[in-house]
Amino acid sequence: MKTKIGFFDFAGCEGCQLTVMNLEEQLLQVLQLVEIVEFRELHSGSAEQIDIAFVEGSICRPGDRERLLEIRRRSDILIALGSCADNGGVNALGSDRTPEVLRQEVYGADLPHLYTETPHALSKLVKVDYRIPGCPIDGQEFLAILQALLLKQQPELPGFAVCVECKLAEYPCSFDYGQVCMGPITRAGCRAICIDGGTHCRGCRGLIDNPRTSPYHRILEEHGLTVEEILEQYRTFNVNERPA
Ligand code: SF4
Ligand code: SF4
Ligand code: SF4
Repeated sequence: MKTKIGFFDFAGCEGCQLTVMNLEEQLLQVLQLVEIVEFRELHSGSAEQIDIAFVEGSICRPGDRERLLEIRRRSDILIALGSCADNGGVNALGSDRTPEVLRQEVYGADLPHLYTETPHALSKLVKVDYRIPGCPIDGQEFLAILQALLLKQQPELPGFAVCVECKLAEYPCSFDYGQVCMGPITRAGCRAICIDGGTHCRGCRGLIDNPRTSPYHRILEEHGLTVEEILEQYRTFNVNERPA
């Protein structure tokens, strides 16, 4: 019997689900092993029981909590898909404002159906078994994590920083071009795609486990920056993450 997987979305741009759909040929191969029983962007089907639920987006609208709890009840494994679901992502930028102020600032009007509470990561409300970081996620990492689960193995995320992938690829360092890069304290796994694209890392995959002990911390020191200073510059994806 095929493994039943489902995709669900809360507040987000749906870019992580789109990344999965963009896998195209590889996704078709995956379908030999799994059945996609729910995926609003693909079809209108649903299922009472799901083996693996991939949940995108953060929780901030009326009914979100109840719906997330209901998905959790139906799912054996629940995975936070992308930074909005994982740590609040860009949605969490509004965490220092009340929903009323946020609605006024963003929409110029009070539209209560859009935000009723400060955006939460999924783990604030339910047990999250695994997470796939990034904004958007990396499609190959999604496949690797799904493969590990299908093989009954424990999925693992890289414990090292983006700098490692960047140095291995011999990309020129953004700091040398006067750009502050969050690569020294950001979890690897994206193959330093932004540096390859000519810009710097903004930290969308979240912090490595011990940013203060990263060997690449010295890059910050060489440029006269502390972890706190670059975190302040790159709150975009990491409002809810602070090194201990
Ligand atoms: S993590 Fe990024 S790409 Fe994914 S839903 Fe949120 S905003 Fe969109
Ligand atoms: S600081 Fe940024 S550009 Fe420099 S090596 Fe690290 S990831 Fe690459
Ligand atoms: S380089 Fe940084 S911002 Fe770009 S995808 Fe990787 S973690 Fe995200």
